[in-house]
Amino acid sequence: MSDCGCDSHDIKLIPYHDALGRLVDAAVPLADMEEVVTAAALGRVLAEPVFSGMDVPPADNSAMDGYALRSNDILGDGDITLPVSQRIPAGTYGQPLAAGTAARIFTGAPVPPGADAVVMQEVCTASDDIVAIPGPVAAGQNIRRAGEDISSGQELLAAGRRIRPQEMGLIASVGHATVSVVRRLRVAIFFTGDELVEPGGSLKPGQIYDSNRFTLLGLLAEMGCDVVDLGVVGDTLASTRQAIRSAADQADLVITSGGVSVGEEDHVRIALEEEGDLNMWRIAIKPGKPLAYGTAHGAPFIGLPGNPVSVFATFCLFVSPFIKRMQGMTSVVSRAVPVRAGFDWPKPGTRREFLRARLEQDAAGLPQAVIYPHQGSGVLTSTSWAEGFVEVPEGTTVTAGQTVDYLPMSQML
Ligand code: AMP
Ligand code: MG
Repeated sequence: MSDCGCDSHDIKLIPYHDALGRLVDAAVPLADMEEVVTAAALGRVLAEPVFSGMDVPPADNSAMDGYALRSNDILGDGDITLPVSQRIPAGTYGQPLAAGTAARIFTGAPVPPGADAVVMQEVCTASDDIVAIPGPVAAGQNIRRAGEDISSGQELLAAGRRIRPQEMGLIASVGHATVSVVRRLRVAIFFTGDELVEPGGSLKPGQIYDSNRFTLLGLLAEMGCDVVDLGVVGDTLASTRQAIRSAADQADLVITSGGVSVGEEDHVRIALEEEGDLNMWRIAIKPGKPLAYGTAHGAPFIGLPGNPVSVFATFCLFVSPFIKRMQGMTSVVSRAVPVRAGFDWPKPGTRREFLRARLEQDAAGLPQAVIYPHQGSGVLTSTSWAEGFVEVPEGTTVTAGQTVDYLPMSQML
C-alpha cells in the first residue's frame, strides 16, 4: 500500500476523506427562504421545522366498517343482539351511544361518546334494525385513538430535511397549505473541450458528443437546483477566464467539466488561479483524480474532470454533499452499507477506487455486490448499468465473499 498518498508521478494527492471534509466545511448554507405551496414542495429543503397544531387523528375513530358499542354490553362468549340506534358514516359526528345499543359505523368515522369498542361487520349478523354480535368484546378494539400518530404541538420535521412525497403527505396531514423552504440554489455550468459537439449535430473526425452537459443537467435537476447553462467553452485561457467570470456573476455555485488536468490544453485550473483561488486540487480517488475546488469572484467553484464517468462519480461523491450543505441540509454525506462482494479485485490501487456496482442475488437468494466488467473512466455504460459504487480503499484488494462498502447512488443525490 502507498502510505504517502502518492500517485505514480510522486505528486501528493489529497486523501478522499480529507478532501470531502474540506469541501463540506467550505460550503456555506443559503440564508434566504421562501414560502411554497405544499403541492409544489417536492425536493425542496425545509428552512424551518414543521410543527403540528393538531392531534392526528383529531378524534377517536373506527378502524373498521362495523358496529360501535359498549364492550360491557357484550360479556361472555355467546351472541348478543342489540338494537342499532344510529348510523355514522365517515365525515359525520354521531350522538352519544345509549347503553344496550350499537351504532352502525364506517372506517374513519368518529366513535360516538359512550362507545368503547368496534366490532367488524364480517363477524356480525344484521337484520332490520338489530345486530347479533359475538362476544366477548375487548374494550378499545378497532379504535384508532386521537393523537396516536401525531399530537398537537409536536415537531413533525426538523429544518434541513429534504421533502420527499412522504413528507408532502405528512405536512398536508396537519393542514399546512404552504411550507417554508430554502430558496433554490442557482448553479452555473460550462464545459471545456474543442472536440465537443452538441447532440443533433454531425461529428467531424476527432469530435465527440458533449455528454457531460446532459449528465450534469440531470443531476442538478434531480437535486432541485436552478441551472445557468453557459454551454461549451473553447480550450483557451482567455475564454475559460471569461466563462468563469460570467458564471460566478450569475450563480451561487460554478461547476465545470474538463480541462482540469495537467495537459497544455487544460486551462481551467490556471484560469481559476487567475480569477480567484484554487483551494484544493488532485484527490487520491479513481475515477476523478483531477477534481479542483476553489472560489472565484465570491462564488464557490468546482472543476470536475472531463471523463464522463469521472463527472458522474465526482458529482455523487463531492458535489452532491457540497450542494446539500448549501441547500441547508443537515445530513449531507451518504453512509456506505456493508455487503458481500460477488467479485474479485486482485490488484491494490494507489488511489481509493469507486467501482460501478449493483446488488444481485447469489445462488442462495442473498444480495451480493457485483461490478461492471469495464471500469474505465470513459465507459459511461457502466454508470447506467450500475446502481451504486463499491468503495475499495487504497492498497487493498477484494476477494469474493468478503464484506465491502457499498454506496447506493439513490442515496447520494
Ligand atoms: P479533459 O479533462 O478535458 O482532458 O477530458 C478528458 C476526457 O473527457 C477527454 O477524452 C475528453 O474528450 C472527454 N470529455 C471532456 N468533456 C466532455 C464532455 N462534455 N462530454 C463528453 N466527454 C468529454
Ligand atoms: Mg479537454
